[in-house]
Amino acid sequence: MKLFSTRNLNIEAMPKTAILKGLSDDGGLFCPKIEDITSSAFNIESMLDLSYKDIAKKVFKIFLSDFSEEELKIAIDGAYSKENFGSYSDVVTPITKIGESFILELYHGPTSAFKDVALTILPRFLSIASKSNFDEQNKIYILTATSGDTGKAALSGFKDVPDTFITVFYPTDGVSNIQKLQMQTSEGNNVSVIAVNGNFDDCQRLVKEIYTDKDIARIALESKVLLSSANSINIGRLVPQIVYYIYSYARLVKDGHIKSGDKINFVVPTGNFGDILAGFLAKLLGTPVDKLIIASNSNNVLTDFVNTGVYNKNREFYKTISPSMDILVSSNLERLLFLLSGNDANYVKSLMDDLNKKGMYKIDDGLLSKIRETFVAYYADENECKRAIKEAFTKDSRLIDTHTAIAYACLNKYSIDHSHITYAFKPSVILSTASPYKFVKSVLPCVTGVNIDKIDDFECMERLHKLSNEPIPEGLSALKDKKIRFDTTLDYNKCKSFVIDNINKGNL
Ligand SMILES: *Cc1c(COP(=O)(O)O)cnc(C)c1O
Repeated sequence: MKLFSTRNLNIEAMPKTAILKGLSDDGGLFCPKIEDITSSAFNIESMLDLSYKDIAKKVFKIFLSDFSEEELKIAIDGAYSKENFGSYSDVVTPITKIGESFILELYHGPTSAFKDVALTILPRFLSIASKSNFDEQNKIYILTATSGDTGKAALSGFKDVPDTFITVFYPTDGVSNIQKLQMQTSEGNNVSVIAVNGNFDDCQRLVKEIYTDKDIARIALESKVLLSSANSINIGRLVPQIVYYIYSYARLVKDGHIKSGDKINFVVPTGNFGDILAGFLAKLLGTPVDKLIIASNSNNVLTDFVNTGVYNKNREFYKTISPSMDILVSSNLERLLFLLSGNDANYVKSLMDDLNKKGMYKIDDGLLSKIRETFVAYYADENECKRAIKEAFTKDSRLIDTHTAIAYACLNKYSIDHSHITYAFKPSVILSTASPYKFVKSVLPCVTGVNIDKIDDFECMERLHKLSNEPIPEGLSALKDKKIRFDTTLDYNKCKSFVIDNINKGNL
């Protein structure tokens, strides 16, 4: 399957090259054409009896068409191993019931966030792609912006991968204590972590600027270093996320909750639009999806966009208790615009130029109505998020994290809005994107009302464990005794020279 820049159809790449490059040279994202997805040889019926790993192989064969079966098998077995997913290595993403709906548990990987599903396998794709493809460069330098979870998942996935080096940029005060500790204590001789004075959007802009910076490109070329990305702008991040939408559908059929062919909804806590876009790709393949419900926190730029057709990032930025969704520029929306405009790269480019120049763009009515055929958007504010955690705990006996709680609250709103049309009621799957223990200081007070000012994160974990009986993920309790290795904070305009220094020093 050929991939094209969302901003210029003359720029194309095969999957291995696109994974190596991360971003297209013109700043666009690599994306397949919509007709190549809808016409692919995918059949949901034939997925129903397959294991997670076998579904992964079928999906990867379609999207990552220049990887051999053998290469895919090595990557899949390595990523979804006992070492990474423990007792969940067979199912990877279990699905369980909550009230009338379902929860897709995406947080059983090594860093307790859904990002692990893709970031345990992306380094393997990159290594394979670099062996077959690149002869010019002999080292890979991964630059990653994070709103908290991508950073640690990438640091874990790329730790000590040969000929690869990674730097993660996170916003100084934009992540939870546990997320920060996870990154600062990272192991591995090829990793570095920088706190950037700014928010996630600044970090993401920084990384995009570095990729398209002509000077850095020249220096990297001279040093035989290939710059790449572990963010969801990389197509190799997106494709693994398609798998759990199909797998969860298959499970619901197998377990007798739905009949094959019945349509279901997915409710997705959304920030950069990567996770939910993967759901859309699953739908394009032929998975019976009714609505994809975009769940946002107070940074509700996407709610307004779906309701008005205007994307406007000129607004107040809120720091919330669901920090991994504190984002005003949702990068992967660009791929949705590309696909639903019928691969109209010129149109997408004009919208992105508007976004760069004016901080906003307006799409035409035809495109908006196509988006609305599948997408519905809601948001929940801080109080609604806290109430959702309490309600899930008391009513459903489920402990959920602050991001999952946003989806829970948004599903409630969707259900109320549609309570008069019974046919609109489809079984709904809430994507649970992180372990509640990662955001323990926010979660604990919601379920007990205890004052947490005087107790640290680890004490909070113990208390939450006593209340809920949910096991504390080992990787999180172990943080208590780990040494902080990375505590550098840089201003935005110092970060580029940090990267150049790293390349020049050749300590990659
Ligand atoms: C990254 C993240 C999200 C948002 O996912 P996107 O793909 O960026 O939309 C939601 N919840 C958690 C816990 C995350 O880490």
